[in-house]
Amino acid sequence: VGVAAALAGATPARTALSQFTLPNHVALVTGGHRGIGLEMALALAEAGATVYCVDLPKHPDEGWLKVQAFAAQLPSLEGGSKGRLEYVCGDVTDQAGMWKIAEDIAAKEGRLDVCVANAGILRGAECLEYPGEEFKKLIDVNVNGVLFSAQAAGRQMQRFGRKGSIILIASMSGSIANQKQHWVAYNTSKSAVLQMGRSMACELGAKGIRVNTISPGYIYTQMTRDFLDTRPHLMAEWSSQNPIGRLGRPDELRGVVLWLASEASTFCTGSDIIVDGGHRAW
Ligand code: NDP
Repeated sequence: VGVAAALAGATPARTALSQFTLPNHVALVTGGHRGIGLEMALALAEAGATVYCVDLPKHPDEGWLKVQAFAAQLPSLEGGSKGRLEYVCGDVTDQAGMWKIAEDIAAKEGRLDVCVANAGILRGAECLEYPGEEFKKLIDVNVNGVLFSAQAAGRQMQRFGRKGSIILIASMSGSIANQKQHWVAYNTSKSAVLQMGRSMACELGAKGIRVNTISPGYIYTQMTRDFLDTRPHLMAEWSSQNPIGRLGRPDELRGVVLWLASEASTFCTGSDIIVDGGHRAW
């Protein structure tokens, strides 16, 4: 096979900075009304994408107001185009519901380019006592919900553009464990997300769809605040567990999601990008 044939289909290089913009792109972000999901949605919208945040039905007004407040601050891209943020009610554990949401978005916009499967929950309980129903609920959101979101988007990517980028939010907890946290369900779920990402990448590469995971370390959000509320001593311990010496902020994940969503990463699939302040090197 000649070099030209081997490179057929490769995207011609644009200038490095322009590769990070997403003009006319359409993205779906689950769990986008707060925390990491909100920052990622904002980053994609700042880059020019129309971003649909999918959140639980109990939050429409609150989520919508927050998203609108951020949307009002979005800058215009060169040439005048501007990103947009929209809010959709949905539960990632509802497979048919997620498929329909993605179908409606793609039908309305004529495309779907990016999916960030971010929604997740955290519950701690000792492994020998972990209640079965709670274990199932966590796996339902963190594993099934991630698959259903990725499927929903991938089907429309294939249908409309035959290309796209799916980003699954895993965690460093998918690769390491900690005696004091009692996160048997959470760690198990995030480990599954890592393998889901690799498996989907292998199946979808030839269809032009890239699938990657992001593994954040400890990030200060509602999820970690709720957990630390009852275990305040862990704050100092977590901060001392990486060389930077603090927890991460959700906005520190903006750049990595933009890179994975955009043409800046067209040869990256099946990868896990670690953003943990050096936790695993420490
Ligand atoms: P938050 O709890 O702040 O946000 C989670 C979001 O997911 C919320 O908007 C939540 O809505 C939504 N959500 C939960 N269940 C569902 C559902 N069934 N359907 C739709 N939306 C749902 O968490 P973070 O921002 O901290 O976490 C985001 C992701 O990042 C999660 O997958 C988490 O596991 C992962 N992560 C977080 C880390 C951290 O240190 N914070 C570290 C590593 C990974 P609601 O408000 O209704 O609960």
